[in-house]
Amino acid sequence: MILMTTRPVTRRSAVLGITAAAATLARPSISRAQSAGRINVVGGGFGGAACARALKRAQASLQVVLIEPNTVFTSCPFSNEVIAGLRDIEAQQFGYDKLASEGVTVVNQAATKIDAQTRNVTVDDGTTLGYDRLVLSPGIDFHFEALPGYDEAASEKMPHAWKAGAQTMLLRRQLETMADGGLVAIAIPANPSRCPPAPYERASLIAHYLKAKKPRSKVLVLDAKDNFSQQRLFEKAWKELYGDMIERVALSQGGRVTSVDPSTRTIITEFGNYTPDVANVIPPQRAGRIAEIAGATDATGWCPINPVTFESKLAPNIHVIGDACLGGGIPKSASAASAQGKACAAAIVSLLAGRAPETPRLTGVCYNTAAPAYGFSLAGNYQPKGDIFAEVEGGATSPVDAPRELRAREAAEAERWFQTITADTFG
Ligand code: FAD
Repeated sequence: MILMTTRPVTRRSAVLGITAAAATLARPSISRAQSAGRINVVGGGFGGAACARALKRAQASLQVVLIEPNTVFTSCPFSNEVIAGLRDIEAQQFGYDKLASEGVTVVNQAATKIDAQTRNVTVDDGTTLGYDRLVLSPGIDFHFEALPGYDEAASEKMPHAWKAGAQTMLLRRQLETMADGGLVAIAIPANPSRCPPAPYERASLIAHYLKAKKPRSKVLVLDAKDNFSQQRLFEKAWKELYGDMIERVALSQGGRVTSVDPSTRTIITEFGNYTPDVANVIPPQRAGRIAEIAGATDATGWCPINPVTFESKLAPNIHVIGDACLGGGIPKSASAASAQGKACAAAIVSLLAGRAPETPRLTGVCYNTAAPAYGFSLAGNYQPKGDIFAEVEGGATSPVDAPRELRAREAAEAERWFQTITADTFG
């Protein structure tokens, strides 16, 4: 779990925003009486919803349209607990009523086309929504070409559970129906990917479930990386809590998955084949497809931005936040997306006012839970440096040798973090 904060939009900046934005109303599609600027936000997840809400709160006269196909958002943070049977999926779900009651116009459709020149977003039913500035926060999509054999159909047999909802429940059901003594494999891609520590948290919590319900079973982690975030903390927790139940094959030991065969549930690595009873295959990722349609992605599949304003380096008047952007040292997390959403809203208000946006400083804490009442964390601060966010001084990690009381306290803090960020975004 990762908690991030950013400097709030000040009253002064909001007031200045209204004044200067009124002077920029050159576009005929905007009614002066109706709005001081029209901002479309694509994607109602942690980044997009936080941004839409912050824009409206900063400057009530802005016309803010949130475009999101789902009427209910299902959160990935804490979805590993759902997979391990520690939590119901309903605890992960949030609607958009509160945002709508604050004046955000919620359009429950997917954006299908973006024309950066004419500044129009087309949605599922063909309606075109014009904008002055567009914010993209579409999260991730899967880079199926990078993992031969894996596609949407394969994910029904070998679930990724890397977008929360039906996939989360499918993986949980597969664990529940697996016999004691079974093998669960988790295939982990290289970075950049969504929430780098989350696969290891998942391995931990699946081991917790197996230890209680199917103690002869094993978890095999097939990893395209040699080193990972908070590795010493995870490895200590695994040894302490689960003995030899979790085995990890790192990149240099041949752990990178090169292809899969869903017909036999086989995972192929550089050094061998595995046919586990449950195969959780997390494929390589890239920015949500609509970012590519908008012309905002580069050859990496992600979106290069100016980290002060979040403006795309490739598409004019488009800002990209959250997992989809190339953030550098800042992890792809809900906390980062939320903090970026707020900082981006402040930057847009400044830009509309003709003022230079302030340089954001994002502060975050990443929590992980290895078992109930066993949590640890990594705190970091990030600031723009060149084209990316770089970590700056002031970060800290939980001590590796800490008493259980501290682990229990951090697990409770993680739960509080979830309540706070979801209330802040949707509540
Ligand atoms: P999302 O929150 O995924 O939102 C994207 C939204 O865009 C979606 O609602 C989608 O429907 C919408 N969308 C996509 N395409 C379109 C379109 N064409 N038109 C309209 N809407 C569209 N982060 C933490 O900080 N702490 C954690 O503990 C944590 N745990 C995690 C555990 C797991 C198992 C996983 C997989 C992730 C975890 N994360 C965690 C990461 C976190 O979920 C993401 O980093 C975060 O959701 C990114 O926010 P976002 O706004 O970029 O994307």
